[in-house]
Amino acid sequence: MPIRQLSKEVSSAIAAGEVIERPASVVKELLENAIDAGARSIEVRIEGGGKRLVQVSDDGEGIRSDELALAVGRYSTSKLESVEDLRSIQTLGFRGEALASIGAVSRMEIVSRARGEQAGSRLAVEGGLLAEREPIGASSGTLVRVQDLFFNVPARKKFLKSDSTELGWIARLVSRYAMAYPARRIRFEAEGRERLRTSGSGNRREALAAVYGLQDAQAMVPLLEPAGIGTGFELAGFIGPPPIHRSNRREITVFVNGRWIQDVGLGSAITQAYHGLLMVGKYPVAALFLEIAPGQVDVNVHPTKAEVRFADPQLVFSAVQRAVRASLLGQVPVHPLSLDHPQPAPGWTSSQLPADRAEAPERVIQLPVQGTARVPILRSVGQVGATYLVAEGPDGVYLIDQHAAHERVLYERLMKQVDSQSAESQALLEAITVEFAQTEMELLADNLSALGTLGFRVEPFGPLAFRVRAVPAVLSGIAPDRALRAVVEDFEEDESPLAEETEARVAARVCKRAAIKAGQILSLEEQRELLRDLERCQAPRTCPHGRPTMVHLSVAALERQFGRRG
Ligand code: ADP
Ligand code: MG
Repeated sequence: MPIRQLSKEVSSAIAAGEVIERPASVVKELLENAIDAGARSIEVRIEGGGKRLVQVSDDGEGIRSDELALAVGRYSTSKLESVEDLRSIQTLGFRGEALASIGAVSRMEIVSRARGEQAGSRLAVEGGLLAEREPIGASSGTLVRVQDLFFNVPARKKFLKSDSTELGWIARLVSRYAMAYPARRIRFEAEGRERLRTSGSGNRREALAAVYGLQDAQAMVPLLEPAGIGTGFELAGFIGPPPIHRSNRREITVFVNGRWIQDVGLGSAITQAYHGLLMVGKYPVAALFLEIAPGQVDVNVHPTKAEVRFADPQLVFSAVQRAVRASLLGQVPVHPLSLDHPQPAPGWTSSQLPADRAEAPERVIQLPVQGTARVPILRSVGQVGATYLVAEGPDGVYLIDQHAAHERVLYERLMKQVDSQSAESQALLEAITVEFAQTEMELLADNLSALGTLGFRVEPFGPLAFRVRAVPAVLSGIAPDRALRAVVEDFEEDESPLAEETEARVAARVCKRAAIKAGQILSLEEQRELLRDLERCQAPRTCPHGRPTMVHLSVAALERQFGRRG
């Protein structure tokens, strides 16, 4: 075939593919336009997973009728004038591609009335072809209705997933924007049913409640901005305590300068901050909102603007990681004990948003990390069922799971030595041989260096055995074969037995095996020692796998329970 220039129709359908991949992309572009237009109230309606209909209406500034046709033209934008402007973008849009792209691959209709105009106008675009603009009665603002997405691009249409999958993506997207823009009233209706509604009060925890439900939203803690984070950089948001987790990364949300960003580096900065607090294969729920000086971040990397480039990525990642870690250690509370009539622990669980939290600013600059993360000095009272320790603190009664607590103690001891590269080994008087199955052998072989770092001295001994010469001194109480087996046996639910494990994961598994068991009777002295050790831990409130080590019954809760108060 000879070389020909593509017709406008074909080339714009191709270009549209960069921006509009699926119904959720349409929703994203329309939502962002509404936000850019200063809308206070935005409504999103979906039918057929967004394939049949996506409709977004807003009460923003509207589009002047003489500019309506221009707005749907390619590279037409009111948000950018010069190349210099690209460096200081304040709006979400600036490429002037979205409406043109959507119009090229659907039946689109825009009804808009600009502020100050007497009447509105309507413009229809079908597969890139504009119809005559006509006047129409309309309230001020804009409504964009997108029907039959990809009706003229069957190859693309074929790649769309089921209605419910597409709807899932849209729902996730709308809820992310609802959290990012709590001052906008956002309503989302899909297949005739309301799925989400925020009040637009500006309170982010309230928006969080609309997305995650009241209970989880209350349990999430605000991100504290650590000192020395540098200028031109602001960090806000909420992070879930370890008990609120997911088995994938989907509920880790990051916005940079008002844009929803998918960034592997930032995502792992957040998960790393939960190190030792979540079970392997579990991921936190977190919503982070970064504001960075426009010169420090390039948003014009990809047409969908879902990727950014930071001038100094390392600085951003480490600031995020430190902030999340410090906020966690500083605020993650002891799990409240649930009684027959559940009573709220102060500032934690209640049937309504606690007033102090609802009004509290989201960012608190000073953080008393060390003080609050630790447990108070505890007085040992005794042991119950050979499994739980009962202790008294200045603020009530603590019930401590002796196994989980000891796991935490051993784990921190071991990791402290690893961090200072001084893991002590205890040589065995006589090397012992431990036999394994083939798959276990491979797994151990993959983790030999981690084992070495932790203080194990082991080597393959024939095809189906390892020889153990020394074990970590911290674990000298446990039988060496048990310690080694811990690495390859009894994986936690959802824990991957295949991947090469990091030292911390191997350590967590080994410490679980080495820790005091439930059902083991402890002398008073042993109970006291365990409490002392726990008080010294950095993160005493969860075991290395993320389960609680203790429940707390506050004096106030006791008083309420016995009818002494309120
Ligand atoms: P961009 O957002 O990159 O400018 P779009 O194609 O999304 O490009 O929109 C083109 C133009 O149409 C915008 O610059 C804006 O002037 C106008 N526009 C689009 N949607 C709205 C809306 N909901 N309210 C007001 N103006 C809008
Ligand atoms: Mg836009």
